[in-house]
Amino acid sequence: MPLFEYRCDKCGHVFEHLAMRSDERPSKCPQCGSRKLEKQFSAFSARTGPDGSDSSCTSGTCSTGTCPLS
Ligand SMILES: [Zn+2]
Repeated sequence: MPLFEYRCDKCGHVFEHLAMRSDERPSKCPQCGSRKLEKQFSAFSARTGPDGSDSSCTSGTCSTGTCPLS
């Protein structure tokens, strides 16, 4: 299950969201309630590409240091 990180465009609050589906996203900021959320790509979501597809480790080393696919 992909864990995405979102940043609120209004208050700058960064929070993680566990997506049950690939197209799922949080409806609003848990801190201020703003709907202007920007998806972040942190180490937590390193195995998932910007288009939601699974990016496998072709180099053999992950940015996180631990390969989730091995
Ligand atoms: Zn906010």
